Amino acid sequence: MLCPKCATQLPELTAACPKCGFCAAEVDNVLGNQAATIEPIMDVAACLRLADRNKLEALLDDFERRFPQVHIALFVGVLPPPLTPATAGFWLLNHGVRIKHGKRRDNAMGILILIEPTSGQAGISLGYGLETLLPTSSLTAALQAATHHLQHANFGAAFRSIVRAIDRLIRKAATSRARGAPFVPVTPKPHHVPLGLPQHITRPAQLPPKQVKEEVW
Ligand SMILES: [Zn+2]
Repeated sequence: MLCPKCATQLPELTAACPKCGFCAAEVDNVLGNQAATIEPIMDVAACLRLADRNKLEALLDDFERRFPQVHIALFVGVLPPPLTPATAGFWLLNHGVRIKHGKRRDNAMGILILIEPTSGQAGISLGYGLETLLPTSSLTAALQAATHHLQHANFGAAFRSIVRAIDRLIRKAATSRARGAPFVPVTPKPHHVPLGLPQHITRPAQLPPKQVKEEVW
């Protein structure tokens, strides 16, 4: 498991990251320790238009048809401090339950793409089963490629851009594996790109943190 703050590889059941001090209990203090439901599209801030939603549903359906072992979920919502997309994604992968066709999916093969609309931050959280498959540098590039859409508060286009980038990465990894290519170890970095957008170009529904918590987690 990678630390969601500094991406150091952590052994199972680590109380706190030895490098940056991140502690899962800090996130639990904000979001609770209960189970949560992971929906394919979690638009808590009501940022997505119907057309965006329809396009994203089609994109996710197509993705999961071709990669049935992997599941992707999208979240856009205001996060109460000190949460970031990376730490909220970490919490949701650890507490969330994704049900599909009546069966519980394995979060080890889960991918969460989170957007915090007020700060303009985006993040990708991976289940541990995918950490060696998807290089951190490529995930960072996928987030950076969506910067333009995030800056214009076009969150539907941002999600589509990131999902398509992940799709390409998995196809590439699958091809490399088929050819017997070795995996190249990568230097871990947080899957997290702070964009530092000015407030006026974000377009969130300014939900109070309490409401976010109740509706989503
Ligand atoms: Zn850390």
